[in-house]
Amino acid sequence: MTDCLFCGVAARDVPADVVFEDDLVLAFRDINPQAPTHILVIPRRHVGSAAELTPADDPLWARLLHVAQQLAIADGVAADGYRVVTNIGRDGGQTVGHLHLHLLGGRHMTWPPG
Ligand code: AMP
Ligand code: ZN
Repeated sequence: MTDCLFCGVAARDVPADVVFEDDLVLAFRDINPQAPTHILVIPRRHVGSAAELTPADDPLWARLLHVAQQLAIADGVAADGYRVVTNIGRDGGQTVGHLHLHLLGGRHMTWPPG
């Protein structure tokens, strides 16, 4: 067991609506969606945030982004555009301390973010 929520999801100890998984990453629908498509893409291995990535993690980072891109296509939001964001630390608005990309789509996004 782990006390990290998303390590629990990756281990399938915590139930989630998983839409994709491979050896490196897992993707599941956000429990509190902020857009019609709101999917989280996480590494299976625990990484606290994008701030902890090292050059050795370049393939992992690329994989996370590529999976987000493919899921945007699969969910039908790619043609109209979408947003991929990762929150880092307190001021970044991070609430779960396991690296995750938010894939948000299906509605118009505003800028600047709140
Ligand atoms: P962040 O605030 O960037 O750390 O994002 C954490 C996200 O995880 C939020 O959008 C939450 O709604 C989402 N979340 C929290 N717990 C779960 C869960 N058990 N399953 C799916 N999404 C979750
Ligand atoms: Zn974790």
